[in-house]
Amino acid sequence: MTAAAKPRPTDHTLNAKAYEGSCFCSAVQFTVSGEPAAMGYCHCESCRSWSAGPVNAFTLWKPEALQITRGADNIGTYNKTPRSYRKWCKTCGGHLFTEHPEWGLIDVYAAVIPDFPYQAGVHVHYQETKLRIKDGLPKMKDVPKEMGGSGASVAE
Ligand SMILES: [Zn+2]
Ligand SMILES: [Zn+2]
Repeated sequence: MTAAAKPRPTDHTLNAKAYEGSCFCSAVQFTVSGEPAAMGYCHCESCRSWSAGPVNAFTLWKPEALQITRGADNIGTYNKTPRSYRKWCKTCGGHLFTEHPEWGLIDVYAAVIPDFPYQAGVHVHYQETKLRIKDGLPKMKDVPKEMGGSGASVAE
């Protein structure tokens, strides 16, 4: 590598660590790079109904952190509300992302980026939980105030 080709220390994009992800069948592949804005578990009824799982482990990223590297035209989208555009692989049905336009963030499900060092910081929508998780992390009734919620905490 020549000196000129080395990443500049100030260039976040070049230095950011990238993590590979894919759907269940690998028709859709992607990377996320840098650091997520937030990580945690969502206990809301919508996540539960769509995913058919009791809890959604989320990682929220700025849209530019996500690069689709294969199968972009194989991604289906459904939005029940303008708040959440849920995306999956049209071949295997595996879930991939949920775009949240109002927040300017995209949820890349922790389960589809297995090498990413996922570390939950909070539980959200805990008032709707069907699976109490006593891990000592904060339990938000809905979501933080800065994300349009009550900001209230509830008992674990
Ligand atoms: Zn797939
Ligand atoms: Zn949810």
